[in-house]
Amino acid sequence: MEKAFRISVRELVAFCFPPQDITPGGGLTDMLLGSAAHRAAQKKRDGEIEKSLSRLFILEDNTIELFGRMDAFADGDLPLVEEMKHCKHSPDAPFAEHRAQAVCYAAMVCLEKGCDRVQISISYLAADGELVRRFDETADRDALIRQTEAWLRMYLQFALREAGHRENRDASLKALRFPYPAYRDGQRELAKQVYTAISRKRRLFASLPTGTGKSAAVLFPALKAMGEGKTGRILYLTARNTARQSPLEALARMQAQGLRARITVLTAKEKLCPALTRCHPDDCPRARGHYLRESAAVEALLKQGGLWTDEVILSIADEHRLCPFELALTLTELADVILMDLNYAFDPFAQLKRLFRTHRDMTLLIDEAHHTLDRVRESLTGELDSGTLREYRTAAGKTLGRRHPYYKALSALLNTLRAEEPPADTDEWRTEEMPDILCTLTGQLQEEAVSLLAQPLGVPLQDLFQILRLCMPFLYAAQRLSTGDYAILWRRHGKERSICLYCLSPAGEIARITGQQQSAVFFSATLSPLESMKQLLGGGEEDVCFALPSPFPPENLRVYICGLSTRYRDRADTAQAVAGLIGDMFRSKRGNYIVYFPSYAYLRLVQLQLEESLHSALWVQTPQMDENDREAFFEAFGDDSSPRLGLCVLGGLFSEGIDLPGNKLIGAMVVGVGLPTPSQKQSAMQQRYEELFGDGFHFASRIPGMQKVLQAGGRVIRSETDRGVLILVDDRYRQPVYRALLPAHWQFRREAAITHPTETSAKEKQV
Ligand code: SF4
Repeated sequence: MEKAFRISVRELVAFCFPPQDITPGGGLTDMLLGSAAHRAAQKKRDGEIEKSLSRLFILEDNTIELFGRMDAFADGDLPLVEEMKHCKHSPDAPFAEHRAQAVCYAAMVCLEKGCDRVQISISYLAADGELVRRFDETADRDALIRQTEAWLRMYLQFALREAGHRENRDASLKALRFPYPAYRDGQRELAKQVYTAISRKRRLFASLPTGTGKSAAVLFPALKAMGEGKTGRILYLTARNTARQSPLEALARMQAQGLRARITVLTAKEKLCPALTRCHPDDCPRARGHYLRESAAVEALLKQGGLWTDEVILSIADEHRLCPFELALTLTELADVILMDLNYAFDPFAQLKRLFRTHRDMTLLIDEAHHTLDRVRESLTGELDSGTLREYRTAAGKTLGRRHPYYKALSALLNTLRAEEPPADTDEWRTEEMPDILCTLTGQLQEEAVSLLAQPLGVPLQDLFQILRLCMPFLYAAQRLSTGDYAILWRRHGKERSICLYCLSPAGEIARITGQQQSAVFFSATLSPLESMKQLLGGGEEDVCFALPSPFPPENLRVYICGLSTRYRDRADTAQAVAGLIGDMFRSKRGNYIVYFPSYAYLRLVQLQLEESLHSALWVQTPQMDENDREAFFEAFGDDSSPRLGLCVLGGLFSEGIDLPGNKLIGAMVVGVGLPTPSQKQSAMQQRYEELFGDGFHFASRIPGMQKVLQAGGRVIRSETDRGVLILVDDRYRQPVYRALLPAHWQFRREAAITHPTETSAKEKQV
């Protein structure tokens, strides 16, 4: 049967001319340099620049639309097609893939204009657009078309195989049933909402309390929509790798029931790489010839089907001596469902360009979506610090010498930063202007670091990566200052200066990325208040909010409010009363409890009061805790030989993403309302939200603070049979504006003494 395909010239050439080795560089830096060179050179050209072309080719009864944009085109008796490429060194001959691009465009020009011959020109440019070397040739129409069709035939084989897979997949999706025997309360309604959002190309913002079985209820309708051609790939995005467990289980169940979709996981390079070194054939044996060996591994995986988890990818990468990370990236292009970190979608320097640049039909399922704001804000913020640059300069001076352009670029930026005079010598940020020269110098440093990356001369690789991680976000942010979504902040500490281009609102960027795709579903147990979260996450009028009630009996959690002031100025005065309350809670019933404090300082203040009476029960969080300490903490709470009292900080390691079901945790106390520490960054954000949404404090402070409270309070009830108490300590919980941000299923008690729900309390209520 005849099939229709569509491919860009760039994709076709990348498909037909894969590299052999993995080499460093590339990515956004090369793209930025390449674009700068193009822009500069195109200004000097006569004729048309960035001219769009599209032609249909019919091959073996199948239609392929080839499209793209020529860098430059000049019409005439002998039309000229010019491809421009950025280069660091003058090549002896044009690269085959660059010539191939020009050949494809020239063939399309022949078909469009009916001409017999075309002049092809491949120009190599320096970053400033100056011509380094140019290669010209004149080619005949027949030869150009024959060559282009030969490449299209290579692609057609692959495209037909993929179309066959999609047919099988869609047939399996039509027959697919919900992966559990029955829908839980609310799951069916949620599934409907997700399906409708995808069908109507909307964003959905959903508040889904613990226990609603959200992974399956979100994935199932998305897959059904895929089977009906309503969406392309599904990206399941998480903020932590551990959050992938539940969607992977749901997908494995569906595969066991006949689903024939390809499912893969993308984990960070640092976690997959067996020996992190320079990704270069000279340094890493897996980088040499990686792409020559990769197709055999991919074929084996395609035959095997199933879930391509880290273990599967690592094992086959070992077998074929491949780079596991590069293999994992390749698999994302073949998979129907990809589980990966939020950053691979929203961080401009980590985004999977191979998917986002070429696809506009994907659905993003964003789990624990309350993390999205901070994560995107962080990736869009750029910061330079003269003290940090000085350390890198010292290291570079020792190995490269002071005359090296990289050393000089570091010096120029460092000295310019230090010459700035922010108003106060404090450790706090101040709003100031930014001289344009800083961007020029940062760009030059970035260029020198990229050059060194290609040919390292003794500078530690990590130093170069770190420098690029400083320069790229800074330049990216600098280009967006006019949006009003940034604050320029300076800080002075002794001789050193820091400048931060702080992202105040990432809503525009989140809206841009999700708006380019079929749909996005943001969901979390604490995505509240929903309408406000929709605004903060870039949602519009047309987008939809949906909330499910908690599936657990509300009687199982007793919530108490204690009206002490925990404001900064009152903390010393109320520490003793808070300690007394903790003692009352701990003695109310034998079991494990956690108290969450707004800061380590407050925690220590109260800890001093508890040391004497409760010393042996205390488990105290410290800022230095690592993975092992975290495990020890969990083990202690799993051991029921004696009751435990955890003292932790709100928003920290133990206030989110931890499961202590049953008797492992029977009570929690949250001290304060979670407001962020006042700072210049915070007040700039508040001002921006005031402009955007009206109530700056509410959006910048109260909402994120209360989300932390909900996360911490949500640790107590993790299953239908859990029972426990929650004590909220702060007089602000009595104010309607704070009470409105607490979940409807938290039932407040007025008794003076703390009592626990019993096994019969729910039944008693029914009687
Ligand atoms: S195996 Fe590691 S060092 Fe080698 S190419 Fe892959 S990520 Fe780079």
